[in-house]
Amino acid sequence: MKIIVCAKQVPDTSGKVAVNPNGTLNRASMPTITNPDDMNALEAALRIKEQTDCKVIVVTMGPMSARKMLLELLAMGADEAVLICGGQFGGSDTYATSQIIAAAIRKIGLENEDIILCGRQAIDGDTAQVGPQIAEKLDIPQVTYVAGISVDGRYISCKRMLEDGYMNIQVETPCLLTCIKELNEPRYMTVKGILECDKKPLTIFDYESLKDDPLIEPDTIGLKGSPTNIFKSFTAPQKGTGIMLEGSDREAVEKLFGILAEKHLI
Ligand SMILES: Cc1cc2nc3c(=O)[nH]c(=O)nc-3n(C[C@H](O)[C@H](O)[C@H](O)COP(=O)(O)OP(=O)(O)OC[C@H]3O[C@@H](n4cnc5c(N)ncnc54)[C@H](O)[C@@H]3O)c2cc1C
Repeated sequence: MKIIVCAKQVPDTSGKVAVNPNGTLNRASMPTITNPDDMNALEAALRIKEQTDCKVIVVTMGPMSARKMLLELLAMGADEAVLICGGQFGGSDTYATSQIIAAAIRKIGLENEDIILCGRQAIDGDTAQVGPQIAEKLDIPQVTYVAGISVDGRYISCKRMLEDGYMNIQVETPCLLTCIKELNEPRYMTVKGILECDKKPLTIFDYESLKDDPLIEPDTIGLKGSPTNIFKSFTAPQKGTGIMLEGSDREAVEKLFGILAEKHLI
């Protein structure tokens, strides 16, 4: 059994967010982190590994510099890493990204008892589309918004978060789950992990190594294979601070009428 964790390197948006004049993120000038939901996915995989002794493989598609993120994930406890990297993959939208990652997973080899874990959503692209699209392309079942996982052989019980509660779903492997932060608290790298991470296998999949997969065609990957077009991107105007109206309901309503009358709105 193996668990494949898809992790994306994203700009750290908790600090100053740099935006290009055309409205796109200026990724080069911002520090990068592992997408937070993907840390929860890896933590879930490592906990299953502790119970079942399975192998955990982390996969990312990104620039060569994403190798550093993979080393950190290996230091946390993943067994192997795969970096999908190549000029032909650049400019991919979610459709093309999932096409390429699905092909990479097929190259790693998806067996009946395997699980693929993704984050629910990346904090930069924010679409939450890549996980479900990978599942579709591999023709395997998927459960999204997973806040709890328990494994019983090939049966995986998932607690799936809804707006107003939870849904319990059992799914059979091979399957794909998208993980949310409520699932767990990701662990830190250990000193031993940091010292040993560069001895673990880290394989690079370039275009040549994936091109024989039927999902990889010039018009299904990269910018050419991306059906999404961004026509306009802008920063939403900041909302002004609200006013709290103190007192009883009646007093608050009277104050509200007073404010609206002052502004000649009523
Ligand atoms: C026309 C176009 C061109 C683009 N060009 C670029 C570009 O050149 N460089 C760039 O960085 N982005 C580019 N993007 C953005 C890119 O498409 C998305 O960031 C990417 O497809 C992932 O979508 P998302 O961020 O919404 O991920 P989500 O769907 O929100 O991610 C969900 C989960 O999927 C997995 N996942 C997502 N992406 C990856 C990945 N790369 N590797 C491993 N796992 C992943 C993670 O587990 C993640 O938590 C482009 C977008 C468009 C529309």
